[in-house]
Amino acid sequence: MTRLDLFIDRMVSQRACLDHAIAATDGLAGPVFELGLGNGRTYHHLRETVVDRDIYVFEREIASHPDSTPEPEFAILGDVMETLPQALQRFGPTISLAHADLGGHNRDKNDIFARKVSPLIEPLLAPGGLMVSSDRMYFDTLEELALPEGAVPGRCFIYRR
Ligand code: SAM
Repeated sequence: MTRLDLFIDRMVSQRACLDHAIAATDGLAGPVFELGLGNGRTYHHLRETVVDRDIYVFEREIASHPDSTPEPEFAILGDVMETLPQALQRFGPTISLAHADLGGHNRDKNDIFARKVSPLIEPLLAPGGLMVSSDRMYFDTLEELALPEGAVPGRCFIYRR
């Protein structure tokens, strides 16, 4: 596979998994967490698609497209290893949907980071809440779900509390 193939698979899978997870958590009132804003493409998709739920963005430093930049009160800046434990104090286990796209090009490094960040995400999800991730996560209590049509196995993962 070329890097272009991998990139396309990731984008197609993100959209399929996000659309599926947004619809599946529609009945939950808790906020949505976007972990890793980057250019803001997936944040923009969430903002255009999620109805009646607040979307909080976690990012080290905002560098997104102007159309895809959250209002300051919805941007939680800093390293997620510090801001996620703070978010648990603030929000408790109320999150209806978390989307994580925190990785870079090095898959081994992404996997090491996924192992570290998984226990910080796990307690935030509300019962029935979903977690969509571009990397395999390591949860003790969440169930891995089958991917929706259109998603490419290994390019996206969905978990449920
Ligand atoms: N999904 C985004 C989009 O559609 O444009 C792309 C996200 S980009 C691949 C990953 C982002 O995660 C980067 O902007 C990076 O700064 C952020 N990130 C990575 N590790 C982080 C950490 N430990 N704390 C906060 N942000 C982090």
